[in-house]
Amino acid sequence: MPTYYAWTIGCQMNHVETDRLSALLESHGYKHTTIAEQADLIVLNTCVVRDSAQNRVENKLMRLKHLKTAQPEIKIALTGCFVTDDLLEMRHRYPFIDYFFQAGSQPTFDDLVDVTKYVLPYPAAISSGITIMQGCDNFCSYCVVPYRRGREKSRPIVEIVQEARCLVDGGARELVLLGQNVDSYGHDLEGKPDLADLLVQIDKIEGVKRIRFLTNHPKDMSSKLIRTIARLEKVCKQLNLPVQSGDNDILQRMNRGYTLQHYYNLLSEIRSGVADVAISTDIIVGFPGEANEQFENTLRFLEKARFDTVHVAMYSPRPQTKASREYVDDVLPEEKERRRKLVEEMQASIATEINSTFIGQTVEVLVEGRKRGKWHGRTQSDKIVFFEHPDNWLGHLVLVRVEYSSPWFLRGSLVSKC
Ligand code: SAH
Ligand code: SF4
Repeated sequence: MPTYYAWTIGCQMNHVETDRLSALLESHGYKHTTIAEQADLIVLNTCVVRDSAQNRVENKLMRLKHLKTAQPEIKIALTGCFVTDDLLEMRHRYPFIDYFFQAGSQPTFDDLVDVTKYVLPYPAAISSGITIMQGCDNFCSYCVVPYRRGREKSRPIVEIVQEARCLVDGGARELVLLGQNVDSYGHDLEGKPDLADLLVQIDKIEGVKRIRFLTNHPKDMSSKLIRTIARLEKVCKQLNLPVQSGDNDILQRMNRGYTLQHYYNLLSEIRSGVADVAISTDIIVGFPGEANEQFENTLRFLEKARFDTVHVAMYSPRPQTKASREYVDDVLPEEKERRRKLVEEMQASIATEINSTFIGQTVEVLVEGRKRGKWHGRTQSDKIVFFEHPDNWLGHLVLVRVEYSSPWFLRGSLVSKC
């Protein structure tokens, strides 16, 4: 029986695509292996959004180059944002790779191993991702995504609903709609449906308990969407709304297309329109020219905005981007590291306060798995919750009374099934 080995880093879209490819291979009798040396086919799904990710990919490729020399019969497929549109150059640089697929190109089994057509059974996790659109039209000055994933291309609602039904039939209870900027979903489709229209259709699917979506863009998020989130019961009251910086001048040079005032207005519209909403954000520290004062504006902004979660990254220049061509990467690595730590410390103290308000409350948890004898799942607001119980609660919505909180998770005891 042939075997495959899969290695994935990067965004949820990459993980969804690897799941799809794994299902494709398994439907053709391929067995999964965790040992690359024992595989007939190796699939690498890559990310280059930051240089730390790119380095991991390059290290992996070096190891596989040696493997391919020792065992030339192993086939290697490379996909994700490492693959540029210059396939000739890619072939030249990485002659030991057998197949190259650009991110989002969705290779078929034929493309991968060159045999006949098949029907795709879908693997489903309790919380399953669906890619609703590819690419991005925004060209934030630091970001490589538009160069690797191309322009925005939305999938039609009927196609997404069909895939959602398959996932639910396969056991999914939560659907996470994925795109680089889900707020511009549908502008390229006939009739121009938007994300709110899509949510209404997904909400009608029987068996779906929860719906999430990411990533939102502050310049494109509409009042209609905010009203729809508030109205639809299955849509989680939780949003990912990356701000990237708390300084207007930096935001402008990042080409984000909004000011802090706009972001504040949006936050207050969301918080007054959607009760108990949880909001997470992304921050880049050490963007070219970011003076200490400008960084401190970001700290002050975080203190005022009080996010549930903050993902912080240190700026790294990415090929082709405007920032890498036109701006000097002049914040020293140790200074970036210092700024990253300060953001993390401030956020840990905010999250400690927010999460401690859950103690004594009973929360609804969708159980996603079991780790070291404890069940774990998440609240609507995306807080991770652990509890111990002898029965099997996988895929169930349960009520848990919270007894302990930390900045990163909650712990409690099972009260009942919902
Ligand atoms: N479409 C989303 C996410 C894009 S990439 C958005 O608009 O926010 C995911 C995150 O990686 C970004 O939010 C940003 O914080 C980070 N990132 C992207 N390019 C980066 C770079 N050159 N250096 C450091 N972090 C970067
Ligand atoms: Fe990159 Fe900006 Fe598009 Fe997000 S919105 S993927 S940060 S270009």
